[in-house]
Amino acid sequence: MKDNLRFDTILIHGSDVEEPFGAAVTPIYQVSTFKFKNAAHGAACFAGEDPGFIYTRIGNPTISALEKTLAKLENAAKCVVTSSGMAAVNTVYMSFLSAGDHIVSTAAVYGPSRVVIEKYWSRFGIQYSYIDTTDVENIKKAIRPNTKMLYLETPTNPTIAITDLKAAAEIAHQHNIVVVVDNTFCSPILQRPLDLGVDVVLHSMTKFINGHADIVAGAIMSKTEALDKIIRPTMVNMGCNMDPTQAYMVIRGVKTLSLRVKKQQENAQIIAEWLEKHPAVASVAYPGLPSHPQYELGKKQMDGPGSLISFELKGGHVAGEKLMNNIQLVMLAVSLGGVESLMSHPASMTHSKMTKESRLEGGITDGLVRFAVGIEDVNDIIADLDQALRKCI
Ligand SMILES: *Cc1c(COP(=O)(O)O)cnc(C)c1O
Repeated sequence: MKDNLRFDTILIHGSDVEEPFGAAVTPIYQVSTFKFKNAAHGAACFAGEDPGFIYTRIGNPTISALEKTLAKLENAAKCVVTSSGMAAVNTVYMSFLSAGDHIVSTAAVYGPSRVVIEKYWSRFGIQYSYIDTTDVENIKKAIRPNTKMLYLETPTNPTIAITDLKAAAEIAHQHNIVVVVDNTFCSPILQRPLDLGVDVVLHSMTKFINGHADIVAGAIMSKTEALDKIIRPTMVNMGCNMDPTQAYMVIRGVKTLSLRVKKQQENAQIIAEWLEKHPAVASVAYPGLPSHPQYELGKKQMDGPGSLISFELKGGHVAGEKLMNNIQLVMLAVSLGGVESLMSHPASMTHSKMTKESRLEGGITDGLVRFAVGIEDVNDIIADLDQALRKCI
């Protein structure tokens, strides 16, 4: 009965752990260390012959329950959770890159995922190429004899461009390159890269998976046990582990992933269509609109267009700031994937440290607005947007 459960059931029953006191949900095992029954038991735990827990940085019942659920959601062999999304990103880099190796990556990845390569990992001899991966021909051209990792993010932030994961993975595998996808923007309900040939998926669970803007957390899912055997010890030895209370919060948050994402997406579709007709708006990027340049690929690769919209204001930078100063219900904040609607203006906020030229190279124009749609009543969101957008005309 408990095998082959469907997605929404896994969200609730995925961990399938028998609690010693019959607790209906996994409790918080807020402990750092675990008692062994005797010396032989301790030795067996360390040898991996006994599944018993040793020390929370290595493993913990609350954390393990979360990992079991998450692995099933992504159709992964194993999952390792981490203290943050960036801990997941750095654990993956550390697992597969050595001095002299080269990484090919989507140019418009989450900022810090690129910053750590350019600023820190380069100090240890890692070479890199940041390219537009929406054209897979660019991937072919960027691969060198020492390329060891293809690191993709789709859809991208904040431009919402889509990379063909199946085609990209096929190219990389011809060269024995490990393929990693940051799946944060979709969550496993909308996109399962491992099913498309990708080797490793990672998430900032701070966003959709936890979904309540109250926790920072990460996860790494591996297609095979062999990959997990590389990744898990790296996480443990680098000290990127999650805390048991953090795991408990995510266990609680993930149960409603399906309900939340469906409602967010329903709202986002209505809002995107409404924005496209608004006189203050020049263009809207949303995979659920036929005007999106990769509308067909999005439909094929994703199980829904998600709830991130970016749109361009006719009034440029000035209009962008005006909109941010006039929204009342929608919060002016970075992050995404929570139940509340959040809006930000990349040119004056998340990407303000870049030169205007490099912003434009990444498609970040002065009037670009990023909108992470929440689960509020869509009429209230639209009313708020309308009163604020009127001031931008
Ligand atoms: C937020 C985010 C991260 C980083 O995650 P943290 O939990 O903030 O460390 C990585 N990738 C993407 C796409 C993100 O949105």
